[in-house]
Amino acid sequence: MPRYDFRCRSCGATFELSRPMAQANDPAVCPEGHPDTVKLLSTVAVTGGGASGAAAPAPSGGGGGCCGGGCCG
Ligand SMILES: [Zn+2]
Repeated sequence: MPRYDFRCRSCGATFELSRPMAQANDPAVCPEGHPDTVKLLSTVAVTGGGASGAAAPAPSGGGGGCCGGGCCG
């Protein structure tokens, strides 16, 4: 029986449930009793624990090296 990871949006707990694939999309209840949970994708080959897919690009343009004005000591 496959296992599915869920995360509670109320308390932030993550838990795992074993359920038939037919019930994979059924709502799960947090062990603490919170019904507001989301199913997590399992077997994701991603290193790191970042929640965002891509890092936001740094704003470019304007400014300049801060060392020119002596702010860096
Ligand atoms: Zn909870």
